[in-house]
Amino acid sequence: MANQMDFTKVVAHAKEYGFVFPSSEIYDGLAAVYDYGQLGVELKNNIKQYWWQAMVQMHENIVGLDSAIFMHPRIWKASGHVDAFNDPLIDNRDSKKRYRADVLIEDHIAKMEEKIEKEVEKGRKRWGESFDEAQFRATNQRVLEHQKKIDEIHTRFAELMNANDLDGLKQLILDLEIVCPISGTRNWTDVRQFNLMFATKMGSVIDDSDTLYLRPETAQGIFVNFLNVQKSGRMKVPFGIAQIGKAFRNEIVARQFIFRMREFEQMEMQFFVRPGTELEWFKHWKEERMQWHQALGIPAECYRFHDHEKLAHYANAATDIEFRFPFGFKELEGIHSRTDFDLSRHSEFSGKKLQYFDPELNESYTPYVIETSIGVDRMFLAVFSHALKEETLEDGSTRTVLSLPTRLAPYKAAVLPLVKKDGLPEKAREIQHLLMPEMMVQYDEKDAIGRRYRRQDAIGTPFCITVDNDTLNDNSVTVRHRDTMQQERVSIDNLLNYLRK
Ligand code: ATP
Repeated sequence: MANQMDFTKVVAHAKEYGFVFPSSEIYDGLAAVYDYGQLGVELKNNIKQYWWQAMVQMHENIVGLDSAIFMHPRIWKASGHVDAFNDPLIDNRDSKKRYRADVLIEDHIAKMEEKIEKEVEKGRKRWGESFDEAQFRATNQRVLEHQKKIDEIHTRFAELMNANDLDGLKQLILDLEIVCPISGTRNWTDVRQFNLMFATKMGSVIDDSDTLYLRPETAQGIFVNFLNVQKSGRMKVPFGIAQIGKAFRNEIVARQFIFRMREFEQMEMQFFVRPGTELEWFKHWKEERMQWHQALGIPAECYRFHDHEKLAHYANAATDIEFRFPFGFKELEGIHSRTDFDLSRHSEFSGKKLQYFDPELNESYTPYVIETSIGVDRMFLAVFSHALKEETLEDGSTRTVLSLPTRLAPYKAAVLPLVKKDGLPEKAREIQHLLMPEMMVQYDEKDAIGRRYRRQDAIGTPFCITVDNDTLNDNSVTVRHRDTMQQERVSIDNLLNYLRK
């Protein structure tokens, strides 16, 4: 029997086993900034590699880029970030805590959705096998009442966000009787806009130097290199440019561990298409990205699409792929149809024409763009929190196991001599060196074998290879599988092939 862990255990496990540490911990940490430890860096690299292979290696019309974090300050004027990259914030006067007004409302809606789910659960228990969920959702009076209220709030919320109506947002918070989770009061300030970009200075003389921004997304580095890549790579529309890199946002509400960080990493791909075809491509990338997630073997019900109520200033369609994190469904990846907004604005602000001559149409145009954008850290949290389980075994004992997809696991195998004598360590070292050029392998000879298995389970190693006295005679080892704990005898000559499969 396996149980998913609660969130505090996920955070504690990540630290205890060297996946994620709070940044600058010996100085009491730095809010919403984290460091990846010896195992975290492996998992993170594997996630990036999995994305890069799927996006760049497997598409002949998508190429990579690694643009600088520092960029010309006018880029952020052109992109709209200087004027519009804001979050609406609100303070509670009693607790002095600051919140995002939109997040308070979204959380309120999520709580109402939970009420519906509870009704459905009750119905399921009551009707047993004959329960028809779709019919129940469509006819149950309580469910319908909740849904009606949710729809009304959604509509009002979307209108206010689209109109940037800050007074209206405050009124909605008051009308919904939302209280501060800390103080429990409704003593709210007005809602204000807060720009999320970090500013810094470049140049030796502070007064004369330019204000630069740490990029809040990697996408703009792709747009300003559109012509460089298109011309040097002789790319034909439709084509894409992919990039993995750091981004920085001065998030107001920075909680929930690596879900919302002030320094984080993005994997973004901008796909340039003929104007008029963008919504077809939007649909295509929605499906392809969902397949990428599901190919990892995490059940489909952990994901859902969420179409945006408020479209960003540049978009004509947008959806999120949401994941069921331990604290509920939240955005994992964004897919946006950005129109020709970015290339047109950079043309205007730079004075350089960012167009494409389409030989088939015999005309020039500004390509439209579909963007897929996912945070490496959020992906890390998604796979890590889903994988971490506490299992009760048949004999009543428990084990903690991190059932990571094999391709993402930090170590693919551990080589364990049964005892620290009789030539077993030497044989185990031989096997370790046989596997090392192909995969990350750990060697461990400390403690009883059972404890070593548990240690490997806890860090997600899919295979434990045990060297015992028989190994010296029959040149075979025992391979133990992490998830089933089943063991098989495998010849060393065949071991590499076996693990590759
Ligand atoms: P949210 O609504 O959660 O603030 P967003 O809509 O602003 O996210 P995008 O601008 O679409 O996010 O960024 C694309 C992706 O980058 C997100 O889907 C997420 O995976 C990741 N991301 C964004 N902000 C952060 C952050 N502060 N920390 C970690 N990852 C982030």
